[in-house]
Amino acid sequence: MTTGLDLARDESVERFRDWLKARQFPATPQRMAIAAVVLGAERPLSAEDVVDRLCKKGPAPGTATVYRTIDSLIACGLVTELEDRREGFRRFQPMRDDVSSSELLCTACGGVARVPDDVVGPRAGALAHANDFVPVRHRLVVYGMCAACRAEKDGRAHDLTSEAR
Ligand SMILES: [Zn+2]
Repeated sequence: MTTGLDLARDESVERFRDWLKARQFPATPQRMAIAAVVLGAERPLSAEDVVDRLCKKGPAPGTATVYRTIDSLIACGLVTELEDRREGFRRFQPMRDDVSSSELLCTACGGVARVPDDVVGPRAGALAHANDFVPVRHRLVVYGMCAACRAEKDGRAHDLTSEAR
């Protein structure tokens, strides 16, 4: 059965192939296999997760190759990096053309929350069409500070005031 996730992955893999071709980088089977795993992931993956998943299908690439391929996917705009400082390693997630959500990115901890948004998608489409532009995808990221980081910061500020007394 082909799911919406598979279709999104296949479309992204083809975009990556075109991107490589435009730069005259070879679309090696290994590179494309890594891309398919990352782009089809149902949750953010680390480079080690990618190696583990490929191991099950045959000879796995080295972590360095995985990182290089993921860096290309990021440069291509198909994948985004989540930096979780608490866990201390990089994880990657595919960027979906999801018109019904927007992202809230905390600049303190690097966490990204995808939240339902039924305003920006249609608005982005209308804006594009009004300017004789056919939209393919859009992305809204709101930068700021999450509740947990604000609470932590307020706690520290409170400690400082009580010390000053
Ligand atoms: Zn935060």
